[in-house]
Amino acid sequence: MTRPILLAVDDDISVLEAVVQDLRRQYGAEYRIIRAAGGQAALDSLNQLKTREEAVALIVSDQRMPGMTGVEFLERARELYPEARRVLLTAYADTEAAIRAINSARIHYYLNKPWDPPEEKLYPVLGDLLDDWKVGYQPPFEGLRVIGHRWSLKDHRVRTFLSSNHVPYRWFDIAAHPEALDMLTDHQAGPDQLPVVLFGDGSMLANAEPEALAARVGLRIQAAEDFYDMVVVGAGPAGLAAAVYGASEGLRTVVIEPEAPGGQAGSSSRIENYLGFPSGLTGAELGRRAHTQAARFGAEFVTQRATGLRIDGQYRFVQLADGREVSSHVVLLAPGVQYRKLNIPGADSLTGRGIYYGAALVEAASCKDEEVYIVGGANSAGQAALHFAKFACKVTMLVRGKGLSATMSKYLIDEIGRTSNIVVEAKTQVLEVLGEEHLEALRLRGPAGESTVPASSLFVFIGAAPGTGWLPPCLLRDEKGFLLAGPDLRINGKLPESWRESRDPFLLESSIPGVFVAGDVRHGSIKRVASAVGEGSIAVQFAHQYLAGF
Ligand SMILES: Cc1cc2nc3c(=O)[nH]c(=O)nc-3n(C[C@H](O)[C@H](O)[C@H](O)COP(=O)(O)OP(=O)(O)OC[C@H]3O[C@@H](n4cnc5c(N)ncnc54)[C@H](O)[C@@H]3O)c2cc1C
Repeated sequence: MTRPILLAVDDDISVLEAVVQDLRRQYGAEYRIIRAAGGQAALDSLNQLKTREEAVALIVSDQRMPGMTGVEFLERARELYPEARRVLLTAYADTEAAIRAINSARIHYYLNKPWDPPEEKLYPVLGDLLDDWKVGYQPPFEGLRVIGHRWSLKDHRVRTFLSSNHVPYRWFDIAAHPEALDMLTDHQAGPDQLPVVLFGDGSMLANAEPEALAARVGLRIQAAEDFYDMVVVGAGPAGLAAAVYGASEGLRTVVIEPEAPGGQAGSSSRIENYLGFPSGLTGAELGRRAHTQAARFGAEFVTQRATGLRIDGQYRFVQLADGREVSSHVVLLAPGVQYRKLNIPGADSLTGRGIYYGAALVEAASCKDEEVYIVGGANSAGQAALHFAKFACKVTMLVRGKGLSATMSKYLIDEIGRTSNIVVEAKTQVLEVLGEEHLEALRLRGPAGESTVPASSLFVFIGAAPGTGWLPPCLLRDEKGFLLAGPDLRINGKLPESWRESRDPFLLESSIPGVFVAGDVRHGSIKRVASAVGEGSIAVQFAHQYLAGF
């Protein structure tokens, strides 16, 4: 198999040689290292590599080169290899230009010269970038094949589940790949059993559902122990932070999560305001990193949905979708929020068949060269618009308000303004969605009156609501279903009658002692990744104090 490529670019031959040697020493076994003595020569090489369909993982370029600066070169290299990680080598005096290039050329990192010792200054950065690149890289195919239908909710769920768990697969849309019918026949399956998943060992799963797939692709669906110090429900930023801090501080921790770790953040195509990641990172990257970190400290992950919470004296039992339970002294509830559904005619029957809630990043490739509609004017809608603009020929944002300024961060508004194929339709509402097999048109009301426009994909971002219906009534919540915790449990200065402890509830403790709440699901929470992470980690501190009482 051809190894992916690392490209080093510098007009100073001695520096170029030093970069190549350092790269070869650390990455030579896994990657092919190539070099170019200037921007134009490097672009020529990239063009040739592109023609040969070779993978480029990383480009390291010096900034000061005659003819073309490193930033100019990296900007053009991005057009050829958008996924390759781009690193600029700068002298200290060029630091400001490098920081500007994070926005203009979307470089992923800049390194000041010299980078000795590479073990401290070069490899940790490049290793991290290469790990990120590998997540999106599809090596010559050896994995699962999914046969399904583009306009099927079940198919959409299977593909979302596999990609968010980083399981490599190849998708065959039955309408676009005639050979898929032969593949079904070979496995004695029929189109009425879609989606069908074919495994490398020749076996198959018909009518595939994420839950059944989880076990087949090696995800754990059963807890290893009966009892834990802490059960965390939800592996979004809040639950993952609790798992990292809990497990690293010696608590036996299990995390219950039906989807891939990352939560809502996982559907974010680029989080640009999370501390420490100046060029942003995708929610999926954040989820993957935090999951690895928590697992490294010994946290266990179980791919299941929590369906109930039972209290028996000092023991708390979290009930799972397959009927099993896991017990503990402490439970941390971090199930976040889910997107509100469009309450208009046609929306229910077309969900997953052209209408998607949240970014549904897995659909991006299917929307190639099509027109995409997005409903909503908040940051999540803006991020999705920018992401889909890379694939679709046009992205139209339908916004109920006067514009984006009241609901969206300035950096996103600016970037949308710079993106020529995004159009914002203000004061516009979707009245109805139309289509038989799949979405075919939208009926809209805008400043010029009502109109019907053809559409095949509509992504909806219209606020979110907590999914707390499965929790017992004694767990107090506000009128919208957000869970009350800490000081918010006092109504008119009084704690609820059900609270029998001689102490006040801890800051993030719910109306049930030992059951804590963190992140978006908490009443009054700030809906941000950093706040969810903060709350998840703080909750662990109170869990320790609670456990100290046993
Ligand atoms: C598209 C998008 C873009 C965003 N961009 C940004 C941004 O740029 N910057 C920023 O700061 N914030 C951003 N946010 C907001 C941020 O993602 C959230 O505030 C944050 O993810 C909340 O974390 P959480 O852990 O509380 O909940 P969530 O992230 O919602 O995670 C909750 C997890 O719990 C799981 N779960 C739910 N019910 C159950 C159950 N019954 N059993 C087990 N597990 C369950 C869910 O599957 C989910 O994985 C964005 C949100 C979206 C949707």
